[in-house]
Order: sequence, then structure tokens, then C-alpha cells
Amino acid sequence: MKIVVCIKQVPDTTEVKIDPETNTLIRQGVPSIVNPFDLIAVEVALQLKEKHGAEVTVVSMGPPQATDALKECLAMGADQIFLVSDRAFGGADTLATSYTLAQAIKAKVPDFDMILCGKQAIDGDTAQVGPEMAEHLDIAQVTYVAKLDVDGKKVMAEREHDEGYEQVETAMPVLVTVVKAIADPRLPTIRGTIKANAAEVPVITAADIPFDVNQLGLKGSPTKVMKIFTPERRTQGEIFDGDVNQSVNTLLQRLSDAKLL
Ligand code: FAD
Repeated sequence: MKIVVCIKQVPDTTEVKIDPETNTLIRQGVPSIVNPFDLIAVEVALQLKEKHGAEVTVVSMGPPQATDALKECLAMGADQIFLVSDRAFGGADTLATSYTLAQAIKAKVPDFDMILCGKQAIDGDTAQVGPEMAEHLDIAQVTYVAKLDVDGKKVMAEREHDEGYEQVETAMPVLVTVVKAIADPRLPTIRGTIKANAAEVPVITAADIPFDVNQLGLKGSPTKVMKIFTPERRTQGEIFDGDVNQSVNTLLQRLSDAKLL
């Protein structure tokens, strides 16, 4: 079985600040981590490898420093890693990101059986890249997966919902996005870290694959960001005290006046 895991390097969110002049994230000097859901996806791939045998390839699209994120996954036990990086990919929204990643995977691991993603990235938070990749590749997708196993080419998954779980069966090739409940990511081993530190990270650039340039970077991105802002703090609510019946009536009246009833 050939498994590809997509990981994104994200800013450590507890440290993120917004530039008050430009209203954009200040990334300089902010420590980066592997998106936590993506470490979980790597763990799921490694568990499937241990149980059924698999070759695990980890890919990231991002600037050159994303090699650190990839090396962390190599140290956890991935078999190979590669980076998708080029100035031509800059300014990509989720559609262009998913197109670029899908083409890179098709070129590098054409006979993949499964692509694993996190359910979402903790900075962009759209949860769109995984499903969009499945569309670009024209393969089945199962999202928000909390349990996963395979039997030959059959894939059995349990999807997490707000109101319970849904069991699904499908066939490979498939794209799966995972939630926190599915596994706890292992720590990199010392031996793995030594191997990873010495590893060369192959890079795919725009010149390496016959990409459709109209689908890359800003040019291939239909999303327009009109404004980024920190929501205003809500004013404190009103407290009705005194007689309970009168307080309830006042509350109902206020809700009715605000057309919320
Ligand atoms: P989600 O869809 O929430 O991620 C879901 C899963 O997809 C992840 O868990 C992971 O498994 C996988 N995944 C997501 N992104 C990657 C990745 N890069 N590599 C591998 N796997 C991944 N971002 C920039 O860094 N530079 C830019 O110049 C830039 N320009 C933008 C311009 C516009 C107009 C817009 C709208 C966005 C721009 N972004 C840019 C943000 C970028 O589009 C998103 O970060 C990216 O598409 C991923 O979306 P997300 O963070 O919502 O990921």
C-alpha cells in the first residue's frame, strides 16, 4: 500500500499577532509547528504501515523552511518526504494549493492508494484543501474520520459528526481527513532525528511538472480577501435581577424587540 500524507507548517497560534497597519498575520520571528492534525495523519499512516505494510510519503507545499516540518515526519518514521516550493506557487488560495499538491502527488507517487490529511489547518481553518484535492484527482473522499482500517483495497472508516458517528466503506484510491480522536502522534525517535537531520529534501518546483500555470499561485486563486480584522469585544450583557417572573418577562420583551423571538 502506498500512503501519501499532506502536512502544512503553521505558525504556533498562541504566538500569532496581527499587524495593525496591514491587518495581516505577522509571521516573522513566530515559531512554526507542524499542523497538529497533520501529525495525527502521519501517525495514522505509520499505524497502517505497521499493521498492513505500507510505504509512507509525506509532502508539504510551502516556503523552504517547511523542510523542518517534513524532517520531523521523517524522524517519526515516514519513508520519504518531498517539498513543493516555488515563487510561482505564492499567493495560492485553497483551490490553487489543492491543485498544486494534487499534481505533485500524481507526478511523484502516481500509484498511491491513500492520501491522508488533517481535518483542517489551525491557521487557515478552511478544511477545504483535502476535499478539493480529491476532486482534482477524481477519487473518493472520507472526511472527519475517527476510526480507519483497510482490508485489501477496501477502506472502512468511522466519521465523526456533531450528533454521533457514521460508518462508511469505500475503495482505494481514497483521500481521508482525520480528527483528533483517531490517534495520538508518536514522538520522533533519536535514531530517526539523526537520519532526518542528514536527509536531503527533494523539492518540486513549477518547472518540474507540466502544471497549468493558470491554476497556480495568485493567478489560479479565485478567492479575494477583502478585509482581515479582530472582532470587536462584545459589551457586557445586561443582568436582570429582582423578581424572577418580572425578569423573565423583561427578557422576553427584549428578545421580541430585537426580533429574536
Ligand atoms: P485546510 O484546508 O484547513 O487544511 C486541511 C488539510 O490540508 C491540512 O490538515 C493538510 O493535511 C492539508 N494541507 C493544507 N495546506 C497544505 C499545504 N500547504 N501543504 C500540504 N498539505 C496541506 N498562504 C501562504 O502560505 N502564502 C501565500 O502567499 C498565500 N496567499 C493567499 C492568497 C489568498 C487570496 C488566499 C485566500 C489565501 C492565501 N494563503 C497563502 C493561504 C492559503 O491559501 C492556505 O493556507 C492554504 O490553501 C491552506 O488552506 P487552509 O490553511 O485553510 O488549510
